[in-house]
Amino acid sequence: MEIAELAERVLAGERRALSRAITLIESQRADHRARATELMEHLRESDRQALRIGLSGTPGVGKSTFIESFGLMLTGQGKRVAVLAVDPSSARSGGSILGDKTRMEQLSRDRNAFIRPSPSQSHLGGVARRTREAVRLCEAAGFDVVLIETVGVGQSETVVAEMSDLFLLLLAPAGGDELQGVKRGIMEMADLILVNKADGDLKATATRTCADYSGALRLLRKRPQDPPGYPKALTVSALEEQGLETAWDEMQALTGWRRDEGHFDARRADQARYWFAEEVRQALLARLQAPAAREAMQALSDAVAEGRTTPAQAARDMVTRHLGG
Ligand code: GDP
Repeated sequence: MEIAELAERVLAGERRALSRAITLIESQRADHRARATELMEHLRESDRQALRIGLSGTPGVGKSTFIESFGLMLTGQGKRVAVLAVDPSSARSGGSILGDKTRMEQLSRDRNAFIRPSPSQSHLGGVARRTREAVRLCEAAGFDVVLIETVGVGQSETVVAEMSDLFLLLLAPAGGDELQGVKRGIMEMADLILVNKADGDLKATATRTCADYSGALRLLRKRPQDPPGYPKALTVSALEEQGLETAWDEMQALTGWRRDEGHFDARRADQARYWFAEEVRQALLARLQAPAAREAMQALSDAVAEGRTTPAQAARDMVTRHLGG
C-alpha cells in the first residue's frame, strides 16, 4: 500500500490501517524506517488532539484493572480510547505483559477501544520512540484519549511523561514509612496521584496513605503549569469503580486550565524539542553500531589501552573520521 493511502485510512479511523501503521513504525528495518518517517510527515498537519495520559505504577498496584474500569467509563461516555505501553521487554514479567488476553478483557472487546502491547524491543530508547509515534497515530485516527502505561522501572516514567499531557501515578495503600519508597523525582512528575484499592479492608489505609501523599505533594516546589491545589492525591477503587469520575473531572479541570493559560501547547512544543534531540542521539548511537565503526572503536580502544594515544585524542579521531556520513 502506498504511504499516502495508509495515511488516508489512518485519518479515516480504520483500525486495520492503524494496526498496520503501528507495525510499520515499530519495524527496525531501514526501508521501513524511511516509510514510517514519510507516514508521520503525512499526518503532521492533522490537527486532531487526543488527551495523552501517562500512567505509571509498580506491578500489582492495579494498572490493568484501572485501565479497564477507567477505559470502559470513557467509552461509556462515547469516547474512543487507545491504550499503549512502554515496557522494555527486560522489565516484563509473566502475566503482566500488556496485551495479554486475560488483561483488560472487556475493554479489548469494546469497539471504541484499541489496545496495543508494547513493541518487543529490549532497549527502552527504541520502545519509547516507537510508542511516541504510535500515540500520534492514534491521535490522528481520532481517538479522544490515549493511555500510555508503564511499569515504572528505570527511566521509563521519564519517557512516558515526555509523551503525555498528564502523568498519573498509581499507588497502593501502605504504611507511612513506605511513602519514602516513591522517588522524589517521580512524585515531581505526577499531575495526579491515585491511591488505588480504596475498598473493603483497605479503605481506611488508602485514605491515610492519600492524606500522606497530599501532604508530601504540598511540600514540592510549585510548578508554573499548575493552578492552586495541584498536583493532587485522590483515592480510587479500580475494582469497585469508585472515584473514577472524580479523577476524570480533575484531569479535565487541570487540562482545561493549562489550555487556557497556554501551558498545554507549550508543553507539547517542549516535548517535540525533546524528541528531536532524542532522535539525533539515537541516530548517532546507531552509527556507532555499524560494523566499520565497531572495528574502528576496537582498534582505537586497543591503541588507548596500549598507551599509543590518549582517550581524548582517540575519541576525537573516532568522531571526526569514523562517524561521518
Ligand atoms: P498491575 O500489575 O498494576 O496491572 O495490577 P493488576 O490490575 O493486574 O492488579 C493486581 C491485583 O490487584 C489483582 O489481583 C487485582 O484484582 C487487584 N486490584 C486491582 N485494583 C484493585 C482495587 O481497586 N481494589 C482491590 N481490592 N484490588 C484491586
